[in-house]
Amino acid sequence: MDLLDTLTAKGLRGEAPTREEALAVLATTDDELLDVVAAAGRVRRQWFGRRVKLNYLVNLKSGLCPEDCSYCSQRLGSKAEILKYTWLKPDQAAEAAKAGVAGGAKRVCLVASGRGPTDRDIDRVADTISAIKDADPAVEICACLGLLSDNQAERLKAAGADAYNHNLNTSEGTYGDIATTHTYADRVDTVQKAHGAGLSACSGLIAGMGESDEDLVDVVFALRELGSDSVPVNFLIPFEGTPLAKEWNLTPQRCLRILAMVRFVNPDTEVRIAGGREVHLRTLQPLGLHLANSIFLGDYLTSEGQAGQADLDMIKDAGFEVEGAGEATLPRHRADVAAAVATGGACGTGGGCGPCGGHGEASGDAAGEEEAGGGAHGCGPCGGHAVAAPAENAAESAAESAAESAAENPNDELRSDLVRVRRRGAGTELAPNA
Ligand code: SF4
Repeated sequence: MDLLDTLTAKGLRGEAPTREEALAVLATTDDELLDVVAAAGRVRRQWFGRRVKLNYLVNLKSGLCPEDCSYCSQRLGSKAEILKYTWLKPDQAAEAAKAGVAGGAKRVCLVASGRGPTDRDIDRVADTISAIKDADPAVEICACLGLLSDNQAERLKAAGADAYNHNLNTSEGTYGDIATTHTYADRVDTVQKAHGAGLSACSGLIAGMGESDEDLVDVVFALRELGSDSVPVNFLIPFEGTPLAKEWNLTPQRCLRILAMVRFVNPDTEVRIAGGREVHLRTLQPLGLHLANSIFLGDYLTSEGQAGQADLDMIKDAGFEVEGAGEATLPRHRADVAAAVATGGACGTGGGCGPCGGHGEASGDAAGEEEAGGGAHGCGPCGGHAVAAPAENAAESAAESAAESAAENPNDELRSDLVRVRRRGAGTELAPNA
């Protein structure tokens, strides 16, 4: 196929496809799917070999969020029966992280629900980073705490954080349909703050919220422009008790096409299969490893993943290997760019570090203290939605649009049996899954 030859050649050179070519990947048929995977797999192997980076989530603070991200089980008004707890103590978080590292995780992702951290929250996370790094200095730490205020990224960097996650989630044009308590520009601002402070920027998307192919391509190109070093691709986990509970729009084949498109647009960037891997890729998960070079080990923030040992077995059986602590994740030319940013040099892929649009009321301090404090992020397994809704009745409109979407959707089988709320690990007395 000419398209795939073109995309492979560009990807091997580290170049992005055109927007039309990216859309064409999403429009390929099931008969063409293995050819698409093989082509994107060549690009993946060019830059990342057969390595798979393992990441481990520690949910420092679960639920209790005042934001209204419609995909999220921790959102304001969520009826999802998830674990709810406030900040883990540093030693509790370090204990949870230890389990992930022992299972092979190279990066630990410290996540807290809420609009954004207060300065006191930054102190707590700094203590947690110290506790983890004291036990194992080689562990990479990524913080995911919501919208950042001025100087908070610098403080996290000084505390030893390596990266900051804040997902764009969907296109700018549809962002107002999935959340009304903060804006797309707020999210861009936080990614830029993190990048500007010398933290590796981790920012990704959620697929399956009723978005169009154009929306998916828009957000993936936006992430490339932002210079994200790692791109988590979440597949919506439609939690019962959230507005998007009925949004079962994805098939395993569709997920593979999305991952292939993300790989072609970001050939030399870490692409991570994030929340929803087991729920939506199901038995095709191993094919996803030919496209992504990174996954989460074990459980997600509020839902359970497959057993950590099953992740390790899958990687081995598919002919891949777990990336070691001493191995660089990014290709040399990307790592050099990250180092230049960290030392105040030039920004990477063009478009990352300049001043950006509205932050406004998004600051963590302005949002208030402790659990009353606001929040606006979106790391692990999330949900999302479709059609534009006025702010005052977004949830109802989302539910209606979900019902309409399900009625139109040939893949509308509701598989809520596949969603398992997390009942072990951080915040419980039970051992983590790693
Ligand atoms: S994604 Fe983050 S900010 Fe949004 S509702 Fe969930 S926890 Fe709150």
